[in-house]
Amino acid sequence: MATGFYTHPDCLQHDNGQWHPECPARLQAIEDQLIASRIDSLIEREEAPLAEENDLARVHTQAHIDYIKSRTPEHGRSELDPDTSMCPASYRAALRAAGAAIAATDAVIEGRYDNAFCSVRPPGHHAEPARAMGFCLFNNVAIAARHALEVHGLQRVAVIDFDVHHGNGTEAAFTGDSRVLMCSFFQHPFYPFSGADSHAPNMVNVPLPARTKGMAVREVVDLMWLPRLNEFKPQMIFVSAGFDAHREDDLGNMGLVEDDYAWITDQIRAVANRHAQGRIVSCLEGGYNLSALGRSVVAHLRSLAEI
Ligand SMILES: [Zn+2]
Repeated sequence: MATGFYTHPDCLQHDNGQWHPECPARLQAIEDQLIASRIDSLIEREEAPLAEENDLARVHTQAHIDYIKSRTPEHGRSELDPDTSMCPASYRAALRAAGAAIAATDAVIEGRYDNAFCSVRPPGHHAEPARAMGFCLFNNVAIAARHALEVHGLQRVAVIDFDVHHGNGTEAAFTGDSRVLMCSFFQHPFYPFSGADSHAPNMVNVPLPARTKGMAVREVVDLMWLPRLNEFKPQMIFVSAGFDAHREDDLGNMGLVEDDYAWITDQIRAVANRHAQGRIVSCLEGGYNLSALGRSVVAHLRSLAEI
């Protein structure tokens, strides 16, 4: 078996406008680093299908789905908030991004892959059940986690979020849902200014000050995430893989490097091997310094694929 790599050319067509950091070049930077690092031939490529509306509806309200669809412009762009916009191709790209996460979940549960990474955009973890924000239209990871619970009948899944920003959308989807344990760290105080005061017992969200570096983050993972994950015994692990806590990334002010992403992924893999038959589906969230993003995804993939 191997690691599946899900992506689709439609994800390159989503255009937030010139100078926007969440740009198609992000996915191209990942592709370039896969080739440069020669791991391209060691992962299995899959084309992401389109998600269906009823897949989205496991997390999002029908009103939200209808709203996103209705805001699709015939040409130009429509602004959903100061950071988030849609072009004519955005809805289809968003369906591919969610569709990748769902297809990867099916493949991993059916045993076709050990684990999988979805190299997709738009990202998802800021999208709440009834609100698009922070570059996100639909919450890809939350949709895939609900798919695992409700379609495949899993009883416990973990969502791990190592993006520099708090995954407010994922927390909104799962707070109080005892089938899901969410573990994250994030820079605080920082966009979207949530997560530091979450009291739901299934949320392990750790706010960290700006300039926090890898050793401190590893301690958080070791002392705060791993005991909760091992106690929860997830049957599958979903990862909101944002790489904007990298020290070269200007959208965050933390100090992680590629080795830290490899180490965090190793820990996730160890929990998955112990409790979840190794099952991990990881989806790209943030990461805006193109070189650091490509290198960090390679480090993440090397750990997932054990190469
Ligand atoms: Zn982010």
